Amino acid sequence: MNVAENLDAINQNIEHACHRSGRKPQDVNIIAVTKYVSTDTAREALQAGIKHIGENRKEGFLEKYNQLNQEVQWHFIGTLQSRKVKEIIDYIDYLHSLDRLSLAKEINKRTSQKVKCFVQVNVSGEESKHGINPDEVLPFIEALKDYENIEVAGLMTMAPHIEDKKVLRTCFQKLRELRDNVREKQFSHAPCSYLSMGMSNDYSIAVEEGATHIRIGTKLVGKEF
Ligand SMILES: *Cc1c(COP(=O)(O)O)cnc(C)c1O
Repeated sequence: MNVAENLDAINQNIEHACHRSGRKPQDVNIIAVTKYVSTDTAREALQAGIKHIGENRKEGFLEKYNQLNQEVQWHFIGTLQSRKVKEIIDYIDYLHSLDRLSLAKEINKRTSQKVKCFVQVNVSGEESKHGINPDEVLPFIEALKDYENIEVAGLMTMAPHIEDKKVLRTCFQKLRELRDNVREKQFSHAPCSYLSMGMSNDYSIAVEEGATHIRIGTKLVGKEF
């Protein structure tokens, strides 16, 4: 695995996808998902120019956070159990998995600073997926105004694990429409300008459909465990 070469290839694909859709590559942030690799490999990603690290478990997050003392934005991308909030919330720059009011309540109680959150949406409707239903997005976000430490930075989804490009595209388009609906409301606690969508196998389509944050593991840093 040569992380720098992988990043070059990904940047080229982003450029092409932006060209096709009239977007600017600098509006797309690459989050290196390091959950399957060592801290050394994560460091390689930073040396190659990565500015965002994503982890989905408390232990992996804290390990990387404590060992990589560089200018990095820290993203927590996995399901966050309420009882673990207090151990990591002050180290997280962006939480990608806000999907219930009980979690918002716990976050609000355990920190005194604003936490930028993505509301996770289950666009595809798969049973196995976390996230709130598309028709609950607006009422959910309205209800979040009661928690002064929560800021809704955007929406996040995980597309189904399939090859069908049409289905993937529809999923990403739906998330963008939902984001636009929220943004129109101009809630002060929910600027909701970002879209966290796209992983190793579908990020080009996600970028074409407006992704501002793509979460890439395997195709960038590989899989060591
Ligand atoms: C693991 C993970 C990713 C990265 O997956 P790859 O297919 O390895 O790029 C992205 N988002 C979430 C939420 C993940 O858990």
